Amino acid sequence: MSIKKIAIIGSGTMGRGIAYSAAISGLSVNIQDINEASLEDARAYHKKEFDRAIKKEILTREAANKSFESITYTTEMNDAVNDRDLVIEAVLEIMELKTSIFKQLDDLTPKHTILATNTSTMSPTEIAAQTDRPDKCIALHFFNPVPRMKLIEVICGLETSEETIQKAFEFGESIGKECVKINEFPGFAVSRMNCLIGNEAMNMVMEGVGSPEDIDKAMKLGLNHPMGPLELADLVGLDTRLRNMQYLYETLGEKYRPCPILTKYVKAGHLGKKSGKGFYTYSK
Ligand code: NAD
Repeated sequence: MSIKKIAIIGSGTMGRGIAYSAAISGLSVNIQDINEASLEDARAYHKKEFDRAIKKEILTREAANKSFESITYTTEMNDAVNDRDLVIEAVLEIMELKTSIFKQLDDLTPKHTILATNTSTMSPTEIAAQTDRPDKCIALHFFNPVPRMKLIEVICGLETSEETIQKAFEFGESIGKECVKINEFPGFAVSRMNCLIGNEAMNMVMEGVGSPEDIDKAMKLGLNHPMGPLELADLVGLDTRLRNMQYLYETLGEKYRPCPILTKYVKAGHLGKKSGKGFYTYSK
């Protein structure tokens, strides 16, 4: 059975992007969050993205309206997940939160439902161990901004079945993404490299090697990176990045020690683009 109905848990930066990419590809999408304001922001984001798709002639107005209407927003987890083929968890990078959500999902979803986590760094095996279906659990690591980033890292836990992997690849392709299969290790492939580059850039700002603007410019023009590492950290969210670094530091050791500037900015509420201030300042 192919995946037609999905739910996303968490309507923040990633959840809303995954929901949009699935809806524009013809899937039915329920999006759940405990925070109503976040659901409202997600709805506004979707409206803006569909308007953009109409303007760029990617979709007709009629098709855009149909896709927009295929997204349901709710604070009730049971309503969101009880008839779904796939549920993707995209809440904060906190292991206890992810495991408690997987326990609930195991109780509330039909037996055939695949349970996926969008964790950037954490063990899908540990998350799956909270359920009675570890063979149907997997990590699907999307990238930000989801509608414009092609990749999904598909990370298999110890007990993930071949059938689940195959369905995950088919799902990725059905929403226009390309999948790579990665075996489980902290940080997988992309976060492990990217967090290190970002952290080094932050250390360089702290050491006075260069301004954020000049360090980003150097990486863009010198190495052809499409974005500088500090712009990218601001886009990811500095709170999210700090949690990623803390997990990698705990699991992989000293070279992942979070830069003190990152910790200081998060303590000050400077979370990057989403709060209006990080390594750069953003107008609302
Ligand atoms: P975010 O802070 O933007 O959004 C998280 C959302 O989860 C919020 O809307 C919050 O209200 C909601 N939430 C919290 N507890 C919940 C609960 N119990 N039930 C339902 N919703 C709940 O975070 P994000 O940046 O979207 O990150 C989500 C996940 O995706 C993390 O695991 C992160 O590591 C991963 N990720 C992030 C990025 C990125 O660039 N931001 C990229 C790839 C993967």
